[in-house]
Amino acid sequence: MAAELNLILFGPPGAGKGTQAERLRGDFQLPFISTGEMLRANVRDQTELGLKAKEFMDAGDLVPDDLIVAMAGERLGQDDALDGFILDGFPRTVAQATALERKLASMGRRVTAALLIDVPDEEVIRRLSGRRVCVKAGHNYHVEFDPPKHDSVCDQDGSRLIQRDDDRPDVIANRLRVYHEKTKPLVDYYDSLGLMRRIDGTRDPADVHGHIRAVIATLRLEENV
Ligand code: AMP
Repeated sequence: MAAELNLILFGPPGAGKGTQAERLRGDFQLPFISTGEMLRANVRDQTELGLKAKEFMDAGDLVPDDLIVAMAGERLGQDDALDGFILDGFPRTVAQATALERKLASMGRRVTAALLIDVPDEEVIRRLSGRRVCVKAGHNYHVEFDPPKHDSVCDQDGSRLIQRDDDRPDVIANRLRVYHEKTKPLVDYYDSLGLMRRIDGTRDPADVHGHIRAVIATLRLEENV
């Protein structure tokens, strides 16, 4: 049996992690776990966690580590994640990364690789300010680069497209600041563990996808050796 792939997709907001995860899910039959999506679902359902998380999210700040670690840990223990997963948006701090390691170690597992989709700040701002998402499933569009067939309607499920509260310009600036301060140190962290793989995220989404697939295919070979 093939060894499991426990992957982290990593990069600034707007790097295209969601877009790529969507494609990779089809390729590799791995569950795609986005802490941002999980939190937005909690906010929509007005759960206790959602109520606690909302003000941090609206400001573009990180939700406190203890809340995130508990939520992600629970998700990773579910049956569909036992043969591997693709994480998007977690871990985002060194404390979260060490908590992830402990959680996986308790199951006799480890992170296979962290894939950094690298995109410079100016490009992030351009992408996020034009981003629109569908209210139903979070499918992504861009008013300029990837518009829907019909204005403000999702091609995939017909639901309404909106701008996320945290894609407003002032909030984008804060999210980038938080990324550089809190999340960027994880590049060194995974580099030092020999797990970081870099991918140029400025290229066409199909090229980025091809590059990620090639990296994952190589990892799979290495894991099976
Ligand atoms: P995302 O969709 O990944 O950009 O996440 C949206 C927002 O959810 C972030 O700006 C944070 O407020 C919050 N969030 C998502 N994942 C995490 C995490 N791992 N740690 C802390 N906050 C998070």
